[in-house]
Amino acid sequence: MTATLAQRLLDGDRRALARAITLVEDDRPEGWELVREIYPHTGNAAVYGFTGPPGVGKSTLIGALTKARREAGRTVGVLSIDPSSPFTQGALLGDRIRLTEHFLDHGVFIRSMANRGALGGLSEAALQAALLLDAAGRDDVFVETVGVGQAEIDIIDHADTIVLVLMPGSGDSIQALKAGVMEIPDIIVINKADHPLTDTMVREIRGVLSLANLNDGSEKGSAPTDTPGGTRERGRGRASWRVPIVKTEAAHSRGVEELIERLDEHREHILSEGTLQERRGRNLRNEVLAIAAARMRRRLEDELREDADFKRLLEEVVQRRLDPASAATALLERHRG
Ligand code: GDP
Repeated sequence: MTATLAQRLLDGDRRALARAITLVEDDRPEGWELVREIYPHTGNAAVYGFTGPPGVGKSTLIGALTKARREAGRTVGVLSIDPSSPFTQGALLGDRIRLTEHFLDHGVFIRSMANRGALGGLSEAALQAALLLDAAGRDDVFVETVGVGQAEIDIIDHADTIVLVLMPGSGDSIQALKAGVMEIPDIIVINKADHPLTDTMVREIRGVLSLANLNDGSEKGSAPTDTPGGTRERGRGRASWRVPIVKTEAAHSRGVEELIERLDEHREHILSEGTLQERRGRNLRNEVLAIAAARMRRRLEDELREDADFKRLLEEVVQRRLDPASAATALLERHRG
């Protein structure tokens, strides 16, 4: 059964794709098996991650980008991921994603996810889903998350290009950037640029970018120049990439062409610098470790559930005769043997 599902998926069958994503979302063994089969056929899609506070216009923007990409003859997959809500699925999708005009277009596949798979969590499920879209032949995959918390960042980190969407007045996000909650994204979009505070916002963001020891961006998008690596880069391989700030009005498709140019430039940049492979390599390493760590933890918990020695050890900790770190050391030493 799985073999035929894999085959149908590789042939681009939308129903197979929908079924496959449900399997990984529900953390079913068939889902993992399916990803194992199709994995050699992945790596071709361009994966773009969009993050930013709710209401800034991410969905509208992705709708406009989808339209433009379709007009250019490319196929599109959209994953909308909401770690904060278990209610994003199904009927509500049309409300969340302003992509209704694309629902009948077979070149566009839209899916929302909110379930935390038992193993590894939503971030892992989202990555598996992106792999499935990739294997199904989607040229562009847009992954959208709500909010700029750690869970969202973990999800979006798997993308090749990371876009932070803000709107004038969303000061919290600038704070998040400043505080280093979020790494500096590859592209910053200020949507709802019809707002009078737009240019103030652009200036503030430039300030944050230069504080982060990176070149400040330009909404005109100048050619990349050499810059010393900033302390905030944390190895995303962004040296020599100048973070552009793009002003858009997604609701009127204004600025979308420029955003596409910047997205394409970023892709060319990471391809020519070799950073795409580097970035994917690092993300896959994190992924392998995350899955392994989740499995080890689960195994340990299963083994220790009825373990009398472990209970005694914990009691020592509770009674303040043994500190937690020493207890962990004792536990691991026992497990090594
Ligand atoms: P998301 O939560 O970030 O995905 O935001 P949505 O795409 O759902 O948009 C939130 C609201 O902002 C919707 O009512 C949109 O119609 C509106 N919106 C989107 N883009 C613009 C824009 O450029 N200007 C204005 N004024 N409103 C916009």
